[in-house]
Amino acid sequence: MSLQIRNLTKIYGQQRAVHNISFEVAEGEIVGFLGPNGAGKSTTMKIATCFLPPTEGEVRVAGYDVTDSPMKVKSVTGYLPEHNPLYLDMYVHEYLSFIGRLYGLSGTALKQQVGDMVERCGLTREQNKKIEALSKGYRQRVGLAQALIHNPKVLILDEPTSGLDPNQLVEIRKLIKEISQQKTVIFSTHILQEVQALCNRVVVINRGEIVADDTVDRLMQRQGDTVTVIAEFEQGVSVEQLQQLAGVIQVKQLGAGKFSVVAARGADVRPALFRFAADNNLSLIGLKQEETSLESIFHSLTAPSAVEHNQN
Ligand code: ADP
Repeated sequence: MSLQIRNLTKIYGQQRAVHNISFEVAEGEIVGFLGPNGAGKSTTMKIATCFLPPTEGEVRVAGYDVTDSPMKVKSVTGYLPEHNPLYLDMYVHEYLSFIGRLYGLSGTALKQQVGDMVERCGLTREQNKKIEALSKGYRQRVGLAQALIHNPKVLILDEPTSGLDPNQLVEIRKLIKEISQQKTVIFSTHILQEVQALCNRVVVINRGEIVADDTVDRLMQRQGDTVTVIAEFEQGVSVEQLQQLAGVIQVKQLGAGKFSVVAARGADVRPALFRFAADNNLSLIGLKQEETSLESIFHSLTAPSAVEHNQN
């Protein structure tokens, strides 16, 4: 196992940030660590990278315990913290050499490793610039390069794409995908499409507790209690008329002639809507069942009203 977290609890003063969580990440996996703000993601990542001690529980990275062998853990872990702290007045090349030396690299090995990281992270043209002169996207590349400089087995990335513009976001995602071919990667994000694009597994944390740990596919198959159908008529139809149909729980008007029709799962209201249109001589110009999105699953797992349900 690349990462083993067992019964981890972290308490800051009076604040319990992480409560008795356990999960494992196997070698070569790329896992999305999801949760709303304040859920405990950064705290868990800081403990796994030896930036903070656990209050209780056990965390092992590549077999090394974070409490007993922090230097070993650091030697096998690359970490890109949230907000990417960089020395802005250093040059890119100079900064990467500095970080490489901190990890014990020197001479040709250091030169080669810095050169490789510059190339791999797309920094060739920027390597002689001061970090303060770089855009946010290039600063993230420098952050990834420093996390990779000592060729770690496990890469822990805390919101690596936050604050990037859409083009930078695509490039950094591509880079993470490439890196993940050879490493175990755990990254936190708020962007659910990113999880779908990059990972095969997600761990969802809410209020310091794990509320889901599954493959993206299986999570997508989790279904709520209702299904929503979007129906669009050419002519005016009232909400009340649609509410009369068998199986319908709720109707909302979305626009002229357009409605969202909520029904209990298992009760397919599409034939009823079709018959309603035919019987009333109406033109039904759209009828589509909404797919369960990762967003709606995430919401159902982490919305304040879901907490009580999840804790039962
Ligand atoms: P996330 O990364 O999911 O946004 P964090 O791990 O940063 O969550 O925070 C989890 C909880 O711990 C939050 O309630 C946060 O306010 C609290 N917290 C984080 N760091 C500290 C700290 N140094 N001292 C006190 N409370 C903290």
